[in-house]
Amino acid sequence: MTQQGLSTTAVHAGSERPNPHHSLTVPVTQTATYTFSDTQDLCDFMDARMWGMAKGRTEYGRYGNPTVAAAETKLAALEGAEAALLYSSGMAAVTSTILTLVNAGAHIIITDDSYRRTRQFCLNFLKKFNIESTVVPMGDFTALESAIRPETKLIISESPTNPYLRVLDLKHLADIAKAHNIKTLVDATFATPFNLRPLDFGIDLVIHSATKYLGGHNDILAGVVAGSEQLIALLRQQLWMLGGVFDPHSAYLLLRGLKTLGLRVERQNQNGQRIAEFLEAHPKIDRVWYPGLTSHPDHAIAAKQMKGFGGVISFEVRGGITEGSRVVDRVRIPIIAPSLGGVETLIEQPALMSYYEMSTGERLAVGIKDNLIRLALGVEDTEDLINDLAQALEQA
Ligand SMILES: *Cc1c(COP(=O)(O)O)cnc(C)c1O
Repeated sequence: MTQQGLSTTAVHAGSERPNPHHSLTVPVTQTATYTFSDTQDLCDFMDARMWGMAKGRTEYGRYGNPTVAAAETKLAALEGAEAALLYSSGMAAVTSTILTLVNAGAHIIITDDSYRRTRQFCLNFLKKFNIESTVVPMGDFTALESAIRPETKLIISESPTNPYLRVLDLKHLADIAKAHNIKTLVDATFATPFNLRPLDFGIDLVIHSATKYLGGHNDILAGVVAGSEQLIALLRQQLWMLGGVFDPHSAYLLLRGLKTLGLRVERQNQNGQRIAEFLEAHPKIDRVWYPGLTSHPDHAIAAKQMKGFGGVISFEVRGGITEGSRVVDRVRIPIIAPSLGGVETLIEQPALMSYYEMSTGERLAVGIKDNLIRLALGVEDTEDLINDLAQALEQA
């Protein structure tokens, strides 16, 4: 078959022809366990499994589910991966993957401006197991290379990052890691496979909070890891023990959401570019962070590496925390909530959301300004969003 486009893959991959009962959609298999007709049937299954040849069935819900498997097949196809594995949340995917890839005494390198809970897991939680982590500035490959030790086993990065949308040269990262026999893990939640496929650049594993764009409707929590069959098989074995498995009802919603991923990302890319340009030209805005703007520090690599720049924009309102809050409170379409990637536009001031318990000084030390606003665009009409922001800024 000729290479098909990603939208076609998003609609059709993972669905059998025909599906059970000739259902057009993949049925929700809502079961905790699976049955055997008699002892012989059970023994045949156990023998086949011992040889790694148990095809088409399993014996218990934690070890697999056909609805979840269909979503995994679709996601692997979208990432250009041999296999994918779903988890109950993005953080379940992140923590289970890291726990599987490192042993006590290992060393991890993680780039800054990464998801706060991922950083906390590496820097605080893993310390209990004598696993050390070094944080290096995003894009500083000299710092990255000099942080490498003989016991470095894993480099973790994100692209684009939250909230500054920093974009990393993934091929450069993969080349350095391979030369030192270190595994690479990239959280590409903000990009989606439509805008960026990290495996194409030699990254070992790509991770997503599927809660965001992949699910796309702000109604499920999910996480996914994709990569080689060898690595995913290892992760699958550990997931059966760690237990953060995905649920079939949510898998159905994820399958449904993924069918329109191409259309949604196209609109979100368009909203992102046009609204970033509108904000950058506005006198009441000090600075806009969007990789599609030439003013963004990583615009050149983003333009080379990404197919679109995504639907998240961060911007600094002239003034401080109060001026920022005024804009957040005066917009009518965007809703105040954490998260991103759904059809509804969401807005938040990181200082008052993820970093509320810190002082202004502490926030500045981790690079979060009080007047910073993160706008996570949905699929509403671009003009409506621009007009709404214009009226909110008018009064700011
Ligand atoms: C939301 C998010 C996570 C965590 O995912 P959950 O599904 O909320 O557990 C991890 N990384 C990034 C970049 C995220 O945006």
